[in-house]
This record gives sequence, structure tokens and C-alpha cells, in this order.
Amino acid sequence: VLIADIQDELAHSAHSKMGSSSLLSAVARRLEGKVAVITGGASGIGECTAKLFCKHGAKVLIADIQDELAHSVCKFLGPTSASFVHCDVTDESDVRNAVDTAITKYGKLDIMFNNAGIVETSNTVNIVDFDKAEFEKVIGVNLTGSILGTKHAARVMVPARCGSIIITASVASIMGGTSPHAYTCSKHALVGLTRNTAVDLGRFGIRVNCVSPYVVPTPLSKGFLGVDKDDAIDVYSNLKGAVLEPEDIAEAALYLGSNDSKYVSGHNLVVDGGFTIVNPAFSRFN
Ligand code: NAD
Repeated sequence: VLIADIQDELAHSAHSKMGSSSLLSAVARRLEGKVAVITGGASGIGECTAKLFCKHGAKVLIADIQDELAHSVCKFLGPTSASFVHCDVTDESDVRNAVDTAITKYGKLDIMFNNAGIVETSNTVNIVDFDKAEFEKVIGVNLTGSILGTKHAARVMVPARCGSIIITASVASIMGGTSPHAYTCSKHALVGLTRNTAVDLGRFGIRVNCVSPYVVPTPLSKGFLGVDKDDAIDVYSNLKGAVLEPEDIAEAALYLGSNDSKYVSGHNLVVDGGFTIVNPAFSRFN
């Protein structure tokens, strides 16, 4: 382990919420030598994952449309660990450029985290009020963005015969009624994308998985659900005594990105404290 890496590690520890790391974790890093692109890495789950990946020794390229925010995340992580490329995931040339930038800067791509996502601005689930333009916008970022990210990651991973592609889905990938129509459609479709590309790319030693979080306090959920860190998301959760945080999703992505999950592919890793396996209206445990 390079001295510079250890210094980086200690610098992160001083500031980070995940900063209880010690010199010991500096030698037990799970992504040492790996290169990751994280879309939507400027905020929320993506930002938190960028921090955790760097803590575990990865070089991270944040690909996002929020330039200023992304630059401040990179500044926090330090120039040896992280960098930023402006990338609108709905624009194929931007996605191509993000992957090519990772190759130019770091020489390879081991992990592609297709995480950028948006939700409808209106919270209506009434199909009669369906807005086609808004539907296409949400599908464009959540689904098309992930397909493009998967395509261009595969373009460089296939010749290397290895890689891990991760997609952020949602509990809305396996349940109806939690979110508006476009969001739910896009997240269900991401499970299909994960499974089909896991079969396609498995031939080349590349794994594809998705992570499905329950409600996590981030700008997205705060804007959409009015959720705040101090709020009782708890009211709807199944698992009491624990609150889902962005760090928990970052840990799931770390598992899927690392060799710890070397035989896991085509999987939807639901991180929801059991929310999706219970129907409270028909539970004997109320
Ligand atoms: P967030 O708003 O904090 O982060 C989303 C990031 O995506 C932002 O940095 C934003 O700039 C970026 N982004 C948006 N459109 C983009 C585009 N066209 N190109 C590139 N980047 C773009 O929200 P978050 O909660 O961290 O969301 C991350 C992912 O997690 C999303 O896919 C979301 O659907 C999913 N998710 C979130 C929750 C939750 O409760 N927060 C639950 C389940 C799934």
C-alpha cells in the first residue's frame, strides 16, 4: 500500500462519516487497484458510494450533470482518488466520453455503477393524468441512461474479459404503488436489463447486478416524498430500530463491485429491511 494512499485514507477519516477507518482498513481495501465510473455520483447514493469506493482503494470517475457539486466531492476525495466528467446519461456521446475518459485517465474500467436517476415532479399515480413528455424524461434518464452506461462499459469490459456492472433500481422494481408510473416502469425495466445483460455478458466474464433500495434520505427522496433524515420513514418500514442510509446502499454496491461477489450475476439485491416481502394489511404480526 502506497504511503500516499494511506495519507488519503487518513484524510478521509478525518472528515468522513465513514471515517472510523484505520490504517488496518488501508491494507484491507476491497477495491484496491480497481477503476469505477459512477453516474449520478455528485449527490446522494452516488456520492456516498464514490466515497466508500475511494476508501476501499478504487479510482473513481464521477459522471454527472451537476458540475459544481461533483467538483466539490472530488475535492473532498482528492485528485489521486477521484475525478469528474460532465455526463448527461441520456446523451450517448456523453456516456461514451465518460467511459473513454476512465480508460484514458486510469487505463481500464472494472466497475460501472449506473446510478443516476430522477422521479416525476408530480407525485400523482393517476394514469388519467399521464404526461407523455414527463414519462419519456424519466425513462430517458433511468432506463436509457442505464442501457447506454451498460453498453459503453461492455464495450471496454468485453475485450478485458472481466468487469462488474451495477444498476440502481428501487423497491419500485418489484412492487406497484410506491411511486408514479414512469418511475415504476423504469425500475421494473432495469431488472429486465440486468437479467438480459447478465446473460449476454456472462459469456465474457462480466457480471451485471442491480441494487434496490427502500426510501433513503437524499435530495431525490427529500424533494419527492418530503423525507428528511429526522423524519419517520420508519412509519412504513418493516424493520424497526434501524434507519436506511445512503451508506447502506453504498455497502451493497461495494459488495457487488468487489470480488466478494465474484459468482453473483443477474441478481436484484433488495436493501429494504423486508419492506417488499410483507403486506401489512394481511400480516399476522401487526
Ligand atoms: P440524488 O438526486 O441525490 O442523486 C441523483 C444524481 O443523479 C444527482 O447527482 C443528479 O445530478 C444525477 N442525475 C440526474 N439526471 C442525470 C442525468 N441526466 N445524467 C447524469 N446524472 C444525472 O438521488 P438519489 O436518491 O441518490 O438517487 C440515486 C439513485 O437511487 C436513483 O437511480 C434513484 O432512482 C435511486 N433510488 C433512490 C431512492 C431514495 O429513496 N433516495 C430509493 C430507491 C432508488
